[in-house]
Amino acid sequence: MSKKLTRRDFIKIAAGATAATGLAPVARRIVIEPFVQPPEETLPGQATWYASTCRQCPAGCGIVVRTINGRAKKIEGNPLHPLNQGKLCARGQAGLQVLYNPDRLRNAVRQSGGRGSREYEPLYWSEALDLLAEKVSSLGHPDRMAFLGGLMPDHLYQLTNSLLTALGTAPPIIYDLQCTLEGRRPATQLSQTFFGTADLPVYDIAMSDVVFSFGANLFETWMSPVAQSVALGSMRQGKLSGRGLIVQFEPRLSATGASADEWIPVRPGAEGYVALAIGRIIVEERLGHVGSHRDNAVLYQNVDVREMSAASEVSVDTLRRLAQAFADADRAVAIPGGYLSGQHNGFASMLAVQALNRIVAQIGRQGGVFLSTPAPTVALRSKPEVNTLSDVRNLIKRMNAGEVDLLLIHGTNPLYELPAALGFAEAIKHVPYVVSFSPFVDETAVWADLILSDHTYLESWGYQVPSPGTDRPVISSQQPVVNPLYDTRSTAQVLIELAARLGGRAVEAIPWADEESYLQELVTELYGSSLGAFDARTPPGFWTLWRQYGGWWSEKEIRQEPETTDIVQKPLPMVDPQFDGDPEEYPFHLYPYSSVALTDGRGANQPWLQETPDPMTTVQWGIWVELNPQTAEELGVEDDDIVLVESPYGTLEVSVFVYPGIRPDVVAIPIGQGHQDYGRFAQAVTGSNPLALLAPITDPDTESLAWGATRVRLSPTGRKKKLARLESIDGQGRESIG
Ligand code: SF4
Repeated sequence: MSKKLTRRDFIKIAAGATAATGLAPVARRIVIEPFVQPPEETLPGQATWYASTCRQCPAGCGIVVRTINGRAKKIEGNPLHPLNQGKLCARGQAGLQVLYNPDRLRNAVRQSGGRGSREYEPLYWSEALDLLAEKVSSLGHPDRMAFLGGLMPDHLYQLTNSLLTALGTAPPIIYDLQCTLEGRRPATQLSQTFFGTADLPVYDIAMSDVVFSFGANLFETWMSPVAQSVALGSMRQGKLSGRGLIVQFEPRLSATGASADEWIPVRPGAEGYVALAIGRIIVEERLGHVGSHRDNAVLYQNVDVREMSAASEVSVDTLRRLAQAFADADRAVAIPGGYLSGQHNGFASMLAVQALNRIVAQIGRQGGVFLSTPAPTVALRSKPEVNTLSDVRNLIKRMNAGEVDLLLIHGTNPLYELPAALGFAEAIKHVPYVVSFSPFVDETAVWADLILSDHTYLESWGYQVPSPGTDRPVISSQQPVVNPLYDTRSTAQVLIELAARLGGRAVEAIPWADEESYLQELVTELYGSSLGAFDARTPPGFWTLWRQYGGWWSEKEIRQEPETTDIVQKPLPMVDPQFDGDPEEYPFHLYPYSSVALTDGRGANQPWLQETPDPMTTVQWGIWVELNPQTAEELGVEDDDIVLVESPYGTLEVSVFVYPGIRPDVVAIPIGQGHQDYGRFAQAVTGSNPLALLAPITDPDTESLAWGATRVRLSPTGRKKKLARLESIDGQGRESIG
């Protein structure tokens, strides 16, 4: 299927090659093209709004995009969408800067100067696809190909899985730093262990009057922060009994902690002890409305409240007061996640937190924890599941052993997102052929032979079942809100065309002519469901309404009450936290946290997000380390002094931000900066990637990265680098523009 090259294609390819090699011409050239074939629903000069799905994080919020004359101008929340109810976070708003980013690849390219050369040669898509098909066909064995994926729309995951299965290759390995920082894999395992299902539960903040959050940064970056912020608004409006009570247990005060009524700076890794002690007090002292705690006594039979208090550094009086508040509430919910799940003992702690919902009988109740109802068709239920770090480690081992001849990478940037100590940077050099689908030349794409640049999400088809969901089954639809700006191609379309070239079982597995017809066939299975919020008379009519509404969801609330497994019939495990690094040599706990603007680093190439002041420090365009004032005094450093942060695995030089909202034994660094590639805005901020410091250790129960279990030491360098910040505290408690 070779496509004839038009003069315009040639100009686009030429422009792309120039930009990709960094040899941009001095003069700016603007191609003025008349809007001669507008979609039939648009009128010149008038805005048209298209509904779609935000892909800036895994939450799956519904968006509406204002377009004028075929150009996207503004992104807002979809007011009809049950998850985010018309609201959007800063990252969602900044999505236009993904679309219009000047550092986007404009066509398929191969590295002409060899991998790592950063010299690119543009390819026609027919050439690029022939090349890929030839690489797949010439594999000695299907096992010698591997697919590493990240944030991926559900339909692409299904297509990829179907193609790989047909070829006899293992399913994609999904690793994504943001999902790791949220603790998606441990949360899935918690659900499986506690409720017997892999579906993530929904914590009903809106209808609760006491919320205990153990490590989950609910309103910034954890799971579905917009939906959780909407729920906070409902809770605070006093639908129930006043403003409600939120208690945040974490060693560093996040914006969620600042919105809470109480912040408990618990010792790292001891969050589970706090939950165990609260549970023990409730059961032992028969607190609250639950008639009898006899069935729950077994859970806490080994728990000593004083020991838990000493280990967590939360006083017995505080534990007692919190236990009383939790048990006395009409509706209370305890939420485990984030930093808690990134510990070596994270899973045991998560079990202890979930057990609190059980002992106050809040499982399946309003204001407690429930399960979303899945999509009514089986085909729409398959979604990417995050793999363990052991799976990733195994892939690296195979790469190093020369067992992978062809590596395909989509939606993840392992050279940036994995702890450097895992050695992915070295392993990729042992793979003879690497294909990236990144729309940008990120740190990993630099080591690819071929980059089949994907569309951005505002140019793409797709759908996503939000997980965690909401009080009803919801599927968010994704559609192109503009024509693709450049000669990029969606990865789903690339796989369909690849299968056509490969023939045989590959084309039988994904036989569709194009991505749109595949998607249309899949989603119109929902046509006729009696649950839907809209009523279509025909399948084509359903397809129209699916795009118009921005997805499909039930008109009515349908919550599922989870069943508990036999885990609640035995004592809860008590596992001591473990940290990598000798405490004598490395006295501080490192807390690397997901930045509210840049999340796991993928927002770093969007200047609006770089410009967004961090909510707690107001720093912009920068990376810093937060130290408690006592720690700073002991080290003899102050704001903007550069310190050397060292772990047993790496080093980092970074400016100090003195922050009273952190424990003295903890130092925190936001994730997201320190890019060597990924475009001009990401590279504008100098500094190193904090993941270089991380120990590559896992929680043995979940085999997920224990990203909160590394110790570090700090030493002053005697140098200073002033952080750009919107405001600073002058020591007298007054704020001034700095
Ligand atoms: S929470 Fe995630 S999906 Fe929702 S608007 Fe923000 S970035 Fe987009």
